[in-house]
Amino acid sequence: MWRRKQEAYPWIDCKAGKLGCKVCSSITDLSVFKTQGSRLADEWRSYTVTYSGRDKSGMLSSLRKKMIKHKESNGNTAAQRIQDNAKKETLEKVCDNKNASKLKATCAVFRSAYYLAQNDRPFLDNYGLLELQYENGVDIGIGLHSRYSAAQIIDHISSEMRKKVCQKIQAIEPEDKRSRQAAAESRKDQDPLWRFL
Ligand SMILES: [Zn+2]
Repeated sequence: MWRRKQEAYPWIDCKAGKLGCKVCSSITDLSVFKTQGSRLADEWRSYTVTYSGRDKSGMLSSLRKKMIKHKESNGNTAAQRIQDNAKKETLEKVCDNKNASKLKATCAVFRSAYYLAQNDRPFLDNYGLLELQYENGVDIGIGLHSRYSAAQIIDHISSEMRKKVCQKIQAIEPEDKRSRQAAAESRKDQDPLWRFL
């Protein structure tokens, strides 16, 4: 019976034979409960909710009424929302931190591969280089450590560099063309031969 109730009302909890609300008691910001403006929230926060009535059915119905009233109260809804948001934010933060540390490790591996290409070192050096960094306390992650990965990384870096250089050249070219045209025009004015054409 109690377990069924807990499944239906996951926020409900019991201490010393009295009921309370897990959600509301976990919220320290009391301004949330001001809108509710009743003793009810305090009762639920301090685990002092109990029944009234003389017979069993009266007791149960009084408790049921209190539970429904609290569940639908503004204070409980606001507290639930705060708790849900906090959970979501924590999860997002954990994911962000995890992604950032993964990115850092990948950068270290990429830099090592770049070093090999830049200094014309054999791929055989890759593992030793990563091992040295690991011994020095650098997070190198768990993947992309093989010679094959190093070759792939270098291919990737070089193709990206090629793209960047091409973009830069393409950006310079129109400007260059314009300045060449302007130079030709000015030459036209200066060259006496042009006057006869
Ligand atoms: Zn509550």
